[in-house]
Amino acid sequence: MKNSMFYSIFKQKCPVCHQGDVYESKQVYNLSKFDKMHEKCSHCGHKYEIENGFWYGAMYVSYALTVAFSVASFILTYLIYPQATVWVYFGLIVLVLLGLAPVTFRLSRMIWMNFFTHYDPEKSK
Ligand SMILES: [Zn+2]
Repeated sequence: MKNSMFYSIFKQKCPVCHQGDVYESKQVYNLSKFDKMHEKCSHCGHKYEIENGFWYGAMYVSYALTVAFSVASFILTYLIYPQATVWVYFGLIVLVLLGLAPVTFRLSRMIWMNFFTHYDPEKSK
């Protein structure tokens, strides 16, 4: 599992060596620090922002995650309380998206990074 990109994405580790932390704080819901990233990997020195504007691409991943969370919220609401009005569906989707915003932010950047860089077992030593 440690060689998989899912390890890097969900443990928020460097996509190259899977050793160094990407984010300064491990706590996703620390709202003053959830978006603070290290510039480089502390283990292998990989620079996380490969080029200027690299993180703009993560917005597309974020959009896809947001749609997935919205659909999941809709389906769960429908299964639990099918008589709900459209405003209940809308309100719950907004609450879920706001509540998961820091998670979506971090996951989208991790997924985006793992599109472009891959695990190198030599650098993890
Ligand atoms: Zn690294």
